[in-house]
Amino acid sequence: MTTQPRVLITGGAGFLGSHLCERFLAEDHEVLCMDNLITGSLSNIEHLFTDPKFHFIHQDVTEFIHIAGRLDSILHFASPASPIDYLELPIQTLKVGSLGTHKALGLAKAKGARFLLASTSECYGDPKVHPQSEDYWGNVNPVGPRGVYDEAKRFAEAMTMAYHRFHGVETRIVRIFNTYGPRMRLNDGRALPAFMSQALEGKDMTVFGDGSQTRSFCFVDDLVEGITRLLRSDETLPTNIGNPAEMTILQFAEKVIEITGSKSKITFKDLPEDDPKVRQPDISKAQRVLGWEPQVDLDTGLVRTLEYFRLKLGAGESAARTKV
Ligand code: UDP
Repeated sequence: MTTQPRVLITGGAGFLGSHLCERFLAEDHEVLCMDNLITGSLSNIEHLFTDPKFHFIHQDVTEFIHIAGRLDSILHFASPASPIDYLELPIQTLKVGSLGTHKALGLAKAKGARFLLASTSECYGDPKVHPQSEDYWGNVNPVGPRGVYDEAKRFAEAMTMAYHRFHGVETRIVRIFNTYGPRMRLNDGRALPAFMSQALEGKDMTVFGDGSQTRSFCFVDDLVEGITRLLRSDETLPTNIGNPAEMTILQFAEKVIEITGSKSKITFKDLPEDDPKVRQPDISKAQRVLGWEPQVDLDTGLVRTLEYFRLKLGAGESAARTKV
């Protein structure tokens, strides 16, 4: 009988989920990767199928989950996460954050497994406090187009805390800020894949609004390290993980032009409704409790991401898709 730790990663074929699968396999865990593949992709995990410790379960996490045998941890990462995805998939987004979180927590309770919720900086909405620390309750429009994601994740946090307080499940909540790196979908519509594929294809770069809104971008390897530390810590209340290096979206677009050496021009499009004006994580809690802070600077992270995008575009993958 195996004594390796056994971990279930929902959304395991997605951008973050696939990096987490890799990380836990590298640490000799048995990894069960669950995904319904509506935004995740087998191409993110196909290199893992030769590993006997890796198992793929093609399932929607909002349906009853049956897993035979023990489970030590559940990382609940299933959800559309790009604004244009959750505008196209509003009901699925609400269902996976609510029903899916309920199912995954029920499984954690039944198995005595530790549960980690992938939450989001969107819980802070269009924030009135800057930078955002975990004790800020946020400024979310529940009935705006982004409400389907923000409120699903806020509900998921409440549900997670209820399972912790009422059922004694060991739970962790990570509030993830903008993250980038290899395996982002070229056409997922977020700023980095949009800008990088536009730059590589010599197309106009679509900056929304006047580009003065800010974001703070974290390289995926740093995020995975922070999540792993949080899972193994004793911290039950939400913890921000992200890179505090804040910049405007216009500066970010210019950075992508510089890194790619592209001749693309910047064009301005309408700002999506409820697009947050500022976003920057206060990571003092992660520094204090987890001894974590990002290690990869933007130039290094962008060069690594660029290699991936070049390969994908070279393989003929289509990138065209901006706002719906
Ligand atoms: N954005 C942009 N052009 C694009 C895609 C996004 O200017 O082609 C902007 C978007 O309006 C937002 C920021 O970039 O202000 C980050 O958007 P993203 O979709 O990556 O994620 P968000 O942080 O809004 O969840």
